[in-house]
Amino acid sequence: MTDCLFCKIVAGEVPAEIVRESERAVAFRDINPQAPTHVLVVPRAHHPNAAALAAADPASLAEVVAEAHQVAVGDGVADGGYRIVFNTGREAGQTVFHVHAHVLGGRGLNWPPG
Ligand code: AMP
Ligand code: ZN
Repeated sequence: MTDCLFCKIVAGEVPAEIVRESERAVAFRDINPQAPTHVLVVPRAHHPNAAALAAADPASLAEVVAEAHQVAVGDGVADGGYRIVFNTGREAGQTVFHVHAHVLGGRGLNWPPG
């Protein structure tokens, strides 16, 4: 997608602080972090949300989740606990329609989330 911010980050056309890269996924730090660890994990291919990715390419969704865990391990928050969030749709706060897993950790995380 030519006009997608996260496609541009994957392509290296927009700078980002890349944390990890795998065959089908890229992880980078959120520009407006909501926790000490706040990393976004995206598939390289453009899909609008998690359900679309699950339907089109379940292996990539699995890789996004596995990479999210490796991000948590790398940031030292895997043992204490972390959260993976897929905001899906505008009313849930999705603003970028290229599926992304938020990996949040490093502070107490309230439940239920706001
Ligand atoms: P969402 O609201 O779930 O769609 O999440 C989009 C996230 O992308 C937000 O947390 C933003 O802070 C983050 N974001 C927006 N632009 C950038 C960027 N250029 N680099 C890194 N993160 C970004
Ligand atoms: Zn995209």
